[in-house]
Amino acid sequence: DIAVYVSGANQVGATTTLKQLSSNEGALGPSPAAVAALRAMAGDMHRYPDGGSTALRAALATKHGLDASRIVCGAGSDELIALLLKSYAGPGDEVLYSQHGFLMYPIGAKTVGATPIAAPETGLRTDVDAMLAAVTPRTRVVFVANPNNPTGSYLPPEEIARLHAGLPAETLLIIDAAYAEYAEGRNDYTAGIELVEAHPNVVMLRTFSKIYALAALRLGWAYCSAPVADVLNRVRGPFNVSLSAQVAGVAAVEDTEFLARSRAHNEAWLPWLTEKLTGLGLSVAPSAANFVLVRFPETPGKTAAEAWDYLAQRGVLIRKMASYGLPHSLRISVGPEDELQEAVRLLGEFLAA
Ligand code: PLP
Repeated sequence: DIAVYVSGANQVGATTTLKQLSSNEGALGPSPAAVAALRAMAGDMHRYPDGGSTALRAALATKHGLDASRIVCGAGSDELIALLLKSYAGPGDEVLYSQHGFLMYPIGAKTVGATPIAAPETGLRTDVDAMLAAVTPRTRVVFVANPNNPTGSYLPPEEIARLHAGLPAETLLIIDAAYAEYAEGRNDYTAGIELVEAHPNVVMLRTFSKIYALAALRLGWAYCSAPVADVLNRVRGPFNVSLSAQVAGVAAVEDTEFLARSRAHNEAWLPWLTEKLTGLGLSVAPSAANFVLVRFPETPGKTAAEAWDYLAQRGVLIRKMASYGLPHSLRISVGPEDELQEAVRLLGEFLAA
C-alpha cells in the first residue's frame, strides 16, 4: 500500500545531511528560473490558483506541439493515475500492468476496488505478448511505464503500437512517460504522443518530478483525447494544481538550457554508475532513465538488504526493491556527482569487507 511505497524513500527534513539517491529526483536541483518564479509569486499566495492551469498548458502545448485543450494538469502524475483509475475502473474490473511496473498502478487499482493483474516480464522488460495474453473482457485500464520504474527498460514504438492494437477499443492504454526526457535521445523511443493523436483510448502521462526537478511542488500532466480530458476535468478538484506549481512549471518548461544540462548530466553519469557497479561485480539492468536497478549476491554478508543498511548508516539513502518483488536488488538514482562517488565508494567498501 501507500505506506509500503513511501517507506525507505525520502526522509523529509533530512535533505541537508542525507545523500538521497532513492527517489529519482532531478540531480541538479531545480532550474534557477523556476526558483525565481516561485519567489516572485510568494506575495500572491492569498489568491486561488487558475483552476484551468491555462498558462502552463499553453507552455506545454507550445513546447510539444500539442492541443492545449487536451492537456490536463494534476498534483503529480500520481494524482492523474488515481483520477484515471477512479474514472475508468471499479469493483469487478481488472487493471493490467507489467510485473515490475510502477507500484502506484496496483495500489491505485486496489483503492478503487479493481483487481490489479501483473503480466510476467521477460528479462526485466515488459512482454507485450504476455500483456496481451492477460487481457480479459474485464480489463479496463492497461499501464505501461516507458521507460519503466524500477527496471529502466523501455518498449520501442512498434511494440507500444502492437500492444495498443491488441487491446479492445474500450480499454484505456496509459503510457506513463515520467522518464521520457532521459530516453528521448534514442531513435527507437517514443513517449506516445502519436498514439494519443491517433486513438481516443490512449493517454500519455508526464511529470515535473524527474528531469524538471520540481517533485516537492507536485505537478504532472496528461495528454489524451477530448472525451478523456473532459472526464478528468470533471473528476479533478477545481484547484488541484497550486499556483506555485503552475508558475514554477511554466518557468521550468521554458528553461531549455537547464533541461539540456540535466540531460547531459544523466548522459555522463548513468554510464559511469553502470560501469562502476558492474566493475564491483554487481549485475546492473540497462537503463534508459535516471536510475539503475542493481542485483546483489544472495551470499550472507553481501545481500541487498545488508548493502542498503551499510549505506544508510553512512548517510546514503538508496531504494529497497522488496515491495516490487525484487528483494535481491536495490535502485540507485543518478544524483549529483559527489553523491554518486560516495555511493560507489561505500558499495566497494561493503563488498570488499
Ligand atoms: N510514474 C512513474 C513511472 C514514476 O516513477 C513516478 C515517480 O516515481 C511517478 C509516475 C509519479 O510521479 P509524480 O511525482 O508526478 O507523482
